[in-house]
Amino acid sequence: MFQSAERLGRVKASPTVVLNGKVAELAAQGRDVLSLVAGEPDFDTPDHIKQAAKAAIDRGETKYTAVDGTPALRKAIAGKFERENGLSYAPHEIIVGSGGKQIVYNALMATLSAGDEVVIPAPYWVSYPEIVLLAEGTPVIVPCLAENGFRLDPQALDAAITDRTRWLILNSPSNPSGAAYSHDELAALAAVLMRHPKVWILTDDIYEHLTYGGFRFSTIAAIEPRLRERTLTMNGVSKTYCMTGWRIGYAGGPKPLIRAMSAIQSHSTTNACSISQAAAVAALEGPQDFIAGHVAAFERRRDRIVAGLNAVEGLSCRVPEGAFYAFPSCEALLGRQAPDGRLVATDEDFALYLLDAAGVGLVHGSAFGCPGHIRLSYAAPDEMLDRAIERIGTACAALQ
Ligand code: PLP
Repeated sequence: MFQSAERLGRVKASPTVVLNGKVAELAAQGRDVLSLVAGEPDFDTPDHIKQAAKAAIDRGETKYTAVDGTPALRKAIAGKFERENGLSYAPHEIIVGSGGKQIVYNALMATLSAGDEVVIPAPYWVSYPEIVLLAEGTPVIVPCLAENGFRLDPQALDAAITDRTRWLILNSPSNPSGAAYSHDELAALAAVLMRHPKVWILTDDIYEHLTYGGFRFSTIAAIEPRLRERTLTMNGVSKTYCMTGWRIGYAGGPKPLIRAMSAIQSHSTTNACSISQAAAVAALEGPQDFIAGHVAAFERRRDRIVAGLNAVEGLSCRVPEGAFYAFPSCEALLGRQAPDGRLVATDEDFALYLLDAAGVGLVHGSAFGCPGHIRLSYAAPDEMLDRAIERIGTACAALQ
């Protein structure tokens, strides 16, 4: 009889992956489904990046690389940190993994022991608490209110820290809320963290370049250099360079932590794909001007979808500063009845109702630790967003 490991009992399958499966199943049955589920840019990987991968294959760069990443990529990453963030990381303070997800996994597996606590502001990216649980740690979820822009309140952070706290995970701009922290907001969190010298900070900056309306991105180790010695600054090429499938993420941090993460990675994937690493060098060191075009498209879509959602009676959506998600409250609609008689009691019921009745795929907020909300990805063509909003409006109006 098959028996899974005890640790598997602690985690749930990724709800976004499960929902993507449901949407695909309906589409395979011939249903017209508009999917706003996926967390990836709808733009193709730029051509110069693809060319760099092809050239790497032709040069025979098809072998194992150093576990931490090729010297060329670590140099390119060091250059990026210096140029864009004012952070100075030597190549031996950098690790490359198979996606930002593996970087988070490496960091938590390398540092957590049973019972160690990790402070995670909610709404959060679905994988943070699950990876903490896999690593035998304890997620300490701190709710962040929509009234506070879904941002962690410094006092709430202070109150959540105990003797067992090992990490705080920050994610700005955030998946799922799109909320981003200004320089001053991060400085206020940094002041709290300065009073708790045992707490490390994992900052997930993967949506760094996707900010709108003149918002200026900041990262905590640059704002408070005294935190650098206990900060892991994580980033990746998936979102900015439309390279989700290439699986390259990276981080800069203190050498002992990087060494420990490398030890974990050396017994799992060894190194990130050699060809993808060559492509990532081209991404970081090549032309950056196409990013502005993508950002302009995302900003236009953000404005469109947020206005559309706010025009639906019962939905209310704040304007996110970044990423490519809208995260409206659907609380006012909960407790109503669908035309087929079923009760829409929770955000999950609401998301399933919209999938069944309107053919719109999106994710319920409780998957991100924030009930009463839904997440819609606007990394989709404008025309599709318009149709989705129209269908959502009709489905919401049909609730009694
Ligand atoms: N962090 C956040 C907040 C994300 O939304 C994602 C992807 O959805 C990742 C990390 C992981 O990205 P990747 O593993 O493709 O680098």
